[in-house]
Amino acid sequence: MGSRSVVVIGSGIAGAATFFALARRGTDVTLVDDGAVGQATAASAGILQPWSSAIDGPFADLYVRGAAFWPEVLARLAEVGVTQTGHRRSGALVVNADPAAVDAAEERVGRRRAADPDVVGRVERIGGDRARGRFPPLATGLDALWIEGGGRVDGRTVRDALVEAGRRHGGRTVTAHAALLDDGRVRFGDRTEDPDAVVLAGGAWTNDLLGSLGVRVPVAPQRGQITHLTLPGVDTTHWPSVHPLSHHYLVAFDGSRVAVGATRETGSGFDPRVTAAGQLQVLRDALSIAPGLADATILETRVGLRPLADDTMPIVGAVPGHDGLFVATGYGAAGLTMGPLLGDALARRVLGEPVPELDALHPTTSPAAG
Ligand SMILES: Cc1cc2nc3c(=O)[nH]c(=O)nc-3n(C[C@H](O)[C@H](O)[C@H](O)COP(=O)(O)OP(=O)(O)OC[C@H]3O[C@@H](n4cnc5c(N)ncnc54)[C@H](O)[C@@H]3O)c2cc1C
Repeated sequence: MGSRSVVVIGSGIAGAATFFALARRGTDVTLVDDGAVGQATAASAGILQPWSSAIDGPFADLYVRGAAFWPEVLARLAEVGVTQTGHRRSGALVVNADPAAVDAAEERVGRRRAADPDVVGRVERIGGDRARGRFPPLATGLDALWIEGGGRVDGRTVRDALVEAGRRHGGRTVTAHAALLDDGRVRFGDRTEDPDAVVLAGGAWTNDLLGSLGVRVPVAPQRGQITHLTLPGVDTTHWPSVHPLSHHYLVAFDGSRVAVGATRETGSGFDPRVTAAGQLQVLRDALSIAPGLADATILETRVGLRPLADDTMPIVGAVPGHDGLFVATGYGAAGLTMGPLLGDALARRVLGEPVPELDALHPTTSPAAG
């Protein structure tokens, strides 16, 4: 039998997507968030382009399936009139000075396109000059691959869209810090509730919630700094994301905005600051591939704490030994892409359906330190 009442803790993409998926299935669901500084979703670049990734195996498969689910979740949001999502299928450019590197990326994208040609769209080797036509600040001397289906979402807008759509399906939202009690109840604000199920989607903070039970999951914060630039008078709305086959990227947004980043600071702890070294790294990387951004105005640097899992696979499912307790964390650098897919799968699992695709993501716990 499915659970009747559920509390979801955390309204980043993991919790917001689970909340929406539960609410649209008629569940009595409450979403609680404490507005912590450093929410990963609020800082995310929001790029939806998994196909050029050099990683193969289960993570890559999930990443690709996550991107393929986006049209479905957008359609479900539209069913309740939520259409402002910050999503745009603006295409992606894979660029590199070494044509052999672009060859290898073209092979990977072509292989993944064969499984889902509609989502990936047209893939074409266009060379550097045509790439600059699509993203004018790019350096000369680059080879380039165009991927029509590359997309991006604004993390803040889509998070709010999922929450609003969940509300329109009858879900409730509360702003408060939540704590799990050792008897399985959950406390937030001045309320203590005893729901049929609790979903911990606390991102990098998930182990704080599990501490009262004396267990932890293998996840830790990884700081990401990303700088937003504006190019006054330039319309960047239809510019693609740019992937130099390195650790960094550029992504344009509607208006005159380009975000460049991001740092991946493993071991950062809970320290959501803009640092001198982080700022230097993202700007140096960006200008090395797109020197035409040199005169852009710096708007802000956003900082998010990615919930990074030890073995990089997300951790999604029932917490062993704790009836009615579920976790959704460890989405690392791919949470915007995978979040809606995993939220939908977890909602089905919470409601008692067998969900084989979650088997590989089953949480393992160890005793909490101290
Ligand atoms: C700079 C940067 C760029 C990124 N770019 C991309 C990208 O291009 N594509 C992509 O797919 N992914 C990207 N990501 C990754 C993606 O943003 C994350 O994987 C994802 O946002 C994680 O979502 P989450 O919901 O697990 O965690 P968060 O978004 O961190 O949300 C967790 C929430 O839980 C709340 N919370 C925690 N504990 C409690 C408590 N006790 N009570 C109440 N509330 C609580 C927090 O306040 C927070 O709001 C990027 C991340 C960063 C930082």
